[in-house]
Amino acid sequence: MNTRATGLIRPEILALSAYAVPSSAGFIKLDAMENPYAFPADLKPGLMEHLAAASLNRYPDASAGELREAIRQAMNIPDALEIVLGNGSDEIIQMIAVACAKPGAALLSFEPSFVMFRLIATFCGLDYVGVPLTKDFAIDIVATRAAIEQHQPAVTFIAYPNNPTGNLFDRDAIREIIMLSPGLVVIDEAYFAFSSDSFLDEIANFPNAVLMRTVSKLGLAGLRLGFLAGHPEWIREFDKVRLPYNINNLTQAAAAFALRHYDALLAQAAILCIERSQLLKVLRTIPDITVFPSEANFILLRVPESEKTFKALLSRKILVKHTSASHDLLGNTLRVTIGTPAENAAFVSALRDTI
Ligand SMILES: *Cc1c(COP(=O)(O)O)cnc(C)c1O
Repeated sequence: MNTRATGLIRPEILALSAYAVPSSAGFIKLDAMENPYAFPADLKPGLMEHLAAASLNRYPDASAGELREAIRQAMNIPDALEIVLGNGSDEIIQMIAVACAKPGAALLSFEPSFVMFRLIATFCGLDYVGVPLTKDFAIDIVATRAAIEQHQPAVTFIAYPNNPTGNLFDRDAIREIIMLSPGLVVIDEAYFAFSSDSFLDEIANFPNAVLMRTVSKLGLAGLRLGFLAGHPEWIREFDKVRLPYNINNLTQAAAAFALRHYDALLAQAAILCIERSQLLKVLRTIPDITVFPSEANFILLRVPESEKTFKALLSRKILVKHTSASHDLLGNTLRVTIGTPAENAAFVSALRDTI
């Protein structure tokens, strides 16, 4: 049918393919950095009470005051910083991009990193500048200085730790980027719960840096909740482009309750960190694969033939992320999320069979 869509839709959107989420029914799901553990059973009755009290007939609390306070308390957000919430941190990336999208403005990030930085830049009509990482996935500071000088980015996104590589970038390199940047620098700490380092205590010292986190990797991926913490001058502007009522009543109720039991969530993350070191140790004993260090709840590995290994894992009902095609530096790589001990063991055994 001639719907005229191709004539009307912007060419850069026509050129995209939709974000692909494979069906995972019946699979051991190690592809999306979800926490494999369910919400603690002893807390479920309390959670249900909270959800039962939420009014479905009313619009949500537009500013989500109770939830923002629960986040502040749980995560010790410094008083100098204001908070705005997003329907996942993906929505926050979009709010920032929408607010910064002057004609000709650029969004800078690194390659390989989180794909939504590039995609959302494209959605919002920003020029995307992807500075390649070095072959050991570090920031190439010389290339970054040159890119900042040349493109004068309105906003720069730095994932700390980085996805899909799992490493923390050099802290001094990030400080220098913040200092050199004419625009805003967003430190994306999606994996803070698994990381040995954070910018939380330092972010308020910079006039042009903000910190983004999500509860997705912490065991609450189904709620869709992220937040941005920064100086009120920044947060006020981003709050203006936030769609009204973006955090629904059930998410507000469930997340506020869950964050009052933040210790239980952190305890699960701590278990996953132990599992991560076990898995790293075992993977390093398998000949012919390269295992990259990780400060997140996933591990990147390089195998001799990733396509073959990925398919063999699939046939054994194990779903990981095949990252090979997404960047030159990621040739023959797979990204595996840390699962339960049984899931990790199933992965290792299938991997051994297929290498
Ligand atoms: C998973 C991830 C996010 C997105 O988190 P949501 O809150 O689920 O939208 C953001 N940044 C990075 C680097 C991620 O890996």
